[in-house]
Amino acid sequence: MKISFAKIGKTPIEFEETLRGCRLKGSLLKISRHEVELDSTLEGEVEMICDRCAEEYLQRVESPLKLTLSEVAVEGRNDLDIMEFPDGMIDIASIIESEINAMTAEYHYCPVCSERDEAQELEF
Ligand SMILES: [Zn+2]
Repeated sequence: MKISFAKIGKTPIEFEETLRGCRLKGSLLKISRHEVELDSTLEGEVEMICDRCAEEYLQRVESPLKLTLSEVAVEGRNDLDIMEFPDGMIDIASIIESEINAMTAEYHYCPVCSERDEAQELEF
């Protein structure tokens, strides 16, 4: 789903899109000349691969996601919560994609390995 910056005004626009097992649902609101605020919730199950045993598993996700979307380059502003869409089109799928990529890039253990870890910590 792509939404043009030009279509977003002071009245929130609702959106919903599902990608790779995750649903992003929320609203878009214009906050300044070139910026839109995205207020949403990411919910679903992400396929992850355990960093210890290499088993695939599903990670349940349910988290609020608030971002500022800009239609102009925001160089110089070192803010991770800003996403740029220089072509003037907000691509909801690419937002979900980057959230999932951020999750899978982090170090993560499957439930079996994290349980084993906790058990070991208790022994010491
Ligand atoms: Zn594991």
